[in-house]
Amino acid sequence: MSTNTHVLVLNCGSSSFKFALIDSQSGNQLLSGLAEKLGHTDAIITIKRNGEKNSLALGEHNQHVDAIKVLVGTLKQLGLDDGISAIGHRVVHGGEAFTESAIIDDDVIFAIEAVSALAPLHNPANLIGIKAAQVAFPGVPQVAVFDTAFHQTMPAKAFMYGIDKNLYKDKGIRRYGFHGTSHYFVSQKAAEWLDKSTKDTSVITVHLGNGCSVCAVNDGKSMDTSLGMTPLEGLMMGTRSGDIDPGVIIHLMKQYNYDASQIDDLLNKQSGMLGLSQLSNDCRTLEDALNDADNDKRQAAQLTLEVFSYRVAKYIASYTCALTHLDAVVFTGGIGENSSYIRNRIVKHLSLLGLTIDESKNQQARFGQAGAIHDSTSRTPIIVIPTNEEWVIAQDAARLTKEAK
Ligand code: ADP
Repeated sequence: MSTNTHVLVLNCGSSSFKFALIDSQSGNQLLSGLAEKLGHTDAIITIKRNGEKNSLALGEHNQHVDAIKVLVGTLKQLGLDDGISAIGHRVVHGGEAFTESAIIDDDVIFAIEAVSALAPLHNPANLIGIKAAQVAFPGVPQVAVFDTAFHQTMPAKAFMYGIDKNLYKDKGIRRYGFHGTSHYFVSQKAAEWLDKSTKDTSVITVHLGNGCSVCAVNDGKSMDTSLGMTPLEGLMMGTRSGDIDPGVIIHLMKQYNYDASQIDDLLNKQSGMLGLSQLSNDCRTLEDALNDADNDKRQAAQLTLEVFSYRVAKYIASYTCALTHLDAVVFTGGIGENSSYIRNRIVKHLSLLGLTIDESKNQQARFGQAGAIHDSTSRTPIIVIPTNEEWVIAQDAARLTKEAK
């Protein structure tokens, strides 16, 4: 029996995939990287190891399976291919079929295909990755880890939409939530930080990256989260609108002849920070623009970051409804972990909840540094915890593979 604890984690998109080789016991990343522009002649794979980056153009051989072959070749060259114990795949949508991670077999593939209609951009891409990995690593167990699974504990009052209930019964239209591995991971870490058992810990976790969501975790279980049937609901994001009056969509269709793909493009790709600022989807660029010499740019950046922060604060306040008590508010994701400006703006709106920030601690919590950022008068701790979705995937893959032996 192999005692190897290495797990290859794959996160496959339609034209790209991220990968990481992880020691599932220590959490150490032995290698990581990204294959981009797959399906195009300028496709490229970049592999990072020990702080060094190497890129290779894929040329005519530019499909997912070709990029995985290059990855396998590199792992062989480095002597890292031997005894990979499992492959963990991030799968975006598990619908109601998956409340936890699963070893991939024909039934699991069929079930992932069956919910693909709910995530047409993501699940088919995840399946391409699974099938390519099955070819490249024959005999190595593969595990699916679902973004939605952690949120399957949400009660009906949180997951039902106020529409004809037959749409739920017949078509599965309900809220599912995403970013589950991240909310799970940081809520576990928060319990450790608070020195409490997970099942007694209630926190609000705030994942702010390109995609953004808030989650109410009561006694270790997700009770509500802001992403919905698709990753479009809730907070304003980099290019996604988040909550919007559905009447706006009807209006654009009826009065301005928008069709479904225009609405899709508008709400998923041209909205959020990018749409509102007309400057960038990137929080750092907008923070820099706060000091721009151009008054219009300054004002656009200020308004965008204010709308963003106010929306996050409203969600945090409303999620106290889902909890029996509140042990901590936890920030994570690229923005949550690094932007002291955004955290400050959010917490300022929460003074009625008794949340107050220590600005010098807030400034220090950056670049992967975990830590508390509240001051001594705050009713509730506010903590910054870097997320590590790859590690959750690696641990689940290793655990399930071991249990199956
Ligand atoms: P993804 O959701 O794609 O994983 P990330 O979690 O990496 O994205 O978050 C990307 C976001 O984090 C971008 O908006 C980026 O500007 C922001 N970000 C990263 N570092 C900083 C920083 N130092 N200050 C402000 N924002 C930051």
